[in-house]
Amino acid sequence: MRPRSEADVKADVQRVRSARKEATAQFEETMTKGWVRRLHRNRVHRQAQNDRAAADVELYDLQAELKGLRDRAREERERAREVNRAEARRVASAETAERRRLAALKRLKKGPFALVLTGVASRSGQQRSESEMAAAISDATGIAVPQARRTLQRAIHVEPQPLLDEIAETTAIRIKMNLETSFGARLRIVRTGASDGLARKPIPPRVRSEVWNRDGGQCVDCGSRERLEYDHIVPISKGGANTARNLEIRCESCNRRKGASI
Ligand SMILES: [Zn+2]
Repeated sequence: MRPRSEADVKADVQRVRSARKEATAQFEETMTKGWVRRLHRNRVHRQAQNDRAAADVELYDLQAELKGLRDRAREERERAREVNRAEARRVASAETAERRRLAALKRLKKGPFALVLTGVASRSGQQRSESEMAAAISDATGIAVPQARRTLQRAIHVEPQPLLDEIAETTAIRIKMNLETSFGARLRIVRTGASDGLARKPIPPRVRSEVWNRDGGQCVDCGSRERLEYDHIVPISKGGANTARNLEIRCESCNRRKGASI
């Protein structure tokens, strides 16, 4: 049964109250008026007493019903207020994120360097969710979160991704250190041209499988079969091409070591 409206219940209260008033008047009349015969008077007296008691019981139930309705209405208002507060918090946090993103964009200094995201240290990747990592990238670089997320996914699952281009060396180092400590990102700083090549010319699948088979699917330096990368013998920034002759399989640490010694 649908709960009655507060107005319905109030109308009932009115009705019962006036019935009770009438009964009370009759009861008092039987107490005061001497003209009623005794027998009749007793009957009216009892009836009035019963009517008043019945009205009291009914009133008691109606008051309870009214209280229930008012409590429900109050809960409803409280819930609506909570929804509004949650919405306000959501809007405020979106605004904060956008402000941080714009501030990060402003801190980027122009220069001849590019930042390449090569992946995420495996343990940190498990500790942080993809959206947390994307948010950290967005905060540090000013890249919008959805794009940061796509870049991150491609860097983890496909191949290294250019993150920022034409930035100063100090900017590149600051962001690299920031992201490495905040969630274990792996980044490489390269000359701007190198990241262009990386972005525009992925290694063709045919060349990849040729190099993979030739090198036996392991690091040519240490024989590791983990965290392998396709390493350009002559870097793309120095005119190297995506050919099998110019590519070798190296694990990440051997690749870094070689990169550092060039
Ligand atoms: Zn190795």
